[in-house]
Amino acid sequence: MDNRSKKFIFIPFCLMAQAYQAQGIVKYEWKSSIRPFMDLILDHDINIIQMPCAETEFKNSLIREPKGITKYNTKEFNEHCKTLANKVTNQIKNLIESNYEIVAILGIEQSPSCCVNYIYTNKGMEKRMGLFMQELYENTKELNIPIIGINRKYINKSLTELEKLLDS
Ligand code: SF4
Repeated sequence: MDNRSKKFIFIPFCLMAQAYQAQGIVKYEWKSSIRPFMDLILDHDINIIQMPCAETEFKNSLIREPKGITKYNTKEFNEHCKTLANKVTNQIKNLIESNYEIVAILGIEQSPSCCVNYIYTNKGMEKRMGLFMQELYENTKELNIPIIGINRKYINKSLTELEKLLDS
């Protein structure tokens, strides 16, 4: 008898390790956004996989200033994101082949690497995916895994969206 949970969720590294965010941008959360998301996911008995943090791995440091997508959109960073996205894709495909279910992939709105729907630029809000998320989406779109962008400025809205998905 094996009672393990067969469900998985892939989350951005900083959703469970807030200190990985760029300097000065953790402003909106009350205390921390770690617990409400983790509580919700754990209450649903879901295995959690932290995806690599493209920005800290590229810089090899936790200390970095926030930068817009135009600064990150370089050949080197895009290749780095592709390599990371390919690793995550292999992990996802292995799990599916082993009869596990991927309930969702989460991103972080406004991140140049991990946003799902929108990002702020110096020309205002742009509707697009982040550089890492775009690679991951291209690799996995035929698998139809729901992708949700967490907006830390509106935590309750994001929690409700995720809860609705996990309950469905
Ligand atoms: S690159 Fe992604 S995981 Fe890393 S801090 Fe930004 S949003 Fe979080």
